[in-house]
Amino acid sequence: MEKEINISKEGLIKSLEAKGTDQEELHKKAAEVRDKNLSKNVYFRGIIEFSNVCQNDCLYCGIRKSNKKLKRYSMTKQEILDSVEFCNKANYGSIVLQSGESQTKQFTDFVTDIIKTIKKKYPNIGITLCVGEQKKEIYKKFFEAGAHRYLLRIETSNEEHYNKLHPKDMSFKNRRQCLIDLKDIGFQVGTGVMIGSPFQTIENLAEDLLFFKENDIDMVGMGPYIPCDETPLKNPNHNPEKNLNLGLNMIATLRLMMPDINIASTTALQALNPIGRELGLKAGANVIMPIVTPTKYRENYQLYQDKPCINESSEDCMHCITRRIRSVNLNPAFGGWGDSKHFFKRVKDGS
Ligand code: SAH
Repeated sequence: MEKEINISKEGLIKSLEAKGTDQEELHKKAAEVRDKNLSKNVYFRGIIEFSNVCQNDCLYCGIRKSNKKLKRYSMTKQEILDSVEFCNKANYGSIVLQSGESQTKQFTDFVTDIIKTIKKKYPNIGITLCVGEQKKEIYKKFFEAGAHRYLLRIETSNEEHYNKLHPKDMSFKNRRQCLIDLKDIGFQVGTGVMIGSPFQTIENLAEDLLFFKENDIDMVGMGPYIPCDETPLKNPNHNPEKNLNLGLNMIATLRLMMPDINIASTTALQALNPIGRELGLKAGANVIMPIVTPTKYRENYQLYQDKPCINESSEDCMHCITRRIRSVNLNPAFGGWGDSKHFFKRVKDGS
């Protein structure tokens, strides 16, 4: 299957720049590769954005610590459990617990405890974590508590580019080490990048795809960059149309390179086009992440401008997403964990 695409840097750039009928052809081929290697199932990850408190100051992110306009919140244990109960009733199969970053013991103990409680009450629900960079022993605690997938976007695979998007106290090497630690512990590991972020070149994106491949990543969640007013990078030469197309071509190209990984069709695609997530599925994605954060908190988890669904309820999102999946002739895979097929192959091969 890998012969479907020329994975030289030049070949990848050509694929990323595909337009018109070439682009249609690329997406069609990627969808076929997904159907053949995985199936027409689209798996759910109900995402609970349980806290916007963040110690980091990423120059692009709406919940960065210097954004004093933001009302900070942390959901209580009961509120999180209520959201999980919603996912259980909706039969989503899996949840993602996402938040800003904190390395305090109070925070990591809270996360460990909530994982244990969820696992005890809902053993059939798969848990993905997305709580940033942590020490290896903390990742191990999370794993032992019952989380089995972890999402940590590298944001860009180019160190120089990384340094332009992050403050001096954040390090590319550390983030990369975290991905190694997570894999070593036994997590199914997901990463990703922002597409169309300031200072990024098309070569960078081609290198990002090669980074996923070289690091034998199990899952990818990547989405277009969208400026946020309350950040230092609020005014780049933003081109929504270009970013959307690049985002879709990244999904399709990656699907041809890595036929058996999980790829999410992310919410940011929908911020750029009302049917952005459907287009992501048509380009080869197989995972979707309905928001289950209580409506009252959503406006305070705006990583970027015009994030969709912030006035909707979890119920609205469930109906809407199911309809969207069916509209592109795919199957909403209720109840399944939808683990990364690539992970099992990787573990069996001992890599
Ligand atoms: N603290 C967690 C979760 C971060 S928020 C962590 O470090 O993993 C989740 C993702 O939102 C980030 O990884 C980033 O890629 C994305 N994001 C942040 N600001 C964005 C923006 N302006 N446009 C698009 N995506 C953004």
